[in-house]
Amino acid sequence: MDRLWAPWRLEYLVQEKPAGCIFCGAGNERERLIFKTTPHTLIMLNRYPYVNGHLMVAPRRHTADLASLSQEEVLELWSAVALCQQALIQSAGPDGFNIGINLGKAAGAGVEEHLHIHVVPRWSGDNNFMSVVADLRVIPEALEACYDRLLPFFQAAPQVS
Ligand SMILES: [Zn+2]
Repeated sequence: MDRLWAPWRLEYLVQEKPAGCIFCGAGNERERLIFKTTPHTLIMLNRYPYVNGHLMVAPRRHTADLASLSQEEVLELWSAVALCQQALIQSAGPDGFNIGINLGKAAGAGVEEHLHIHVVPRWSGDNNFMSVVADLRVIPEALEACYDRLLPFFQAAPQVS
């Protein structure tokens, strides 16, 4: 597990952290790898994935406080997570999912100040979740190809919530 080639993870590990919040940043949705925005949420492909199709769902409001989420935000977040799961099932046929939140640096949060839910597709025979979150993995598919493959499923989906 410690000699794998995953250049985008390496870039993430060694680079200066960009100023500003990746979930709040302005700019082109495609360049930001955003699939869909709704009034309260956005769905994004993780630029530094642990596996192919590693998605993230975040509230559009910049907050790290789970308890501060309104009922509307919670509802939309969870609907968006379900939509991610459906898109991945239809496009990639995974055998299972890890879905979860890392709150705080001690818990492994890469972006501490803006909470987000990871939706990670899993296949039988791949590594267990702990090794996935703790180590580098080989991603045999380019990021843009992954984005292009998944985008139609989000474009075709009915509005969240
Ligand atoms: Zn933010």
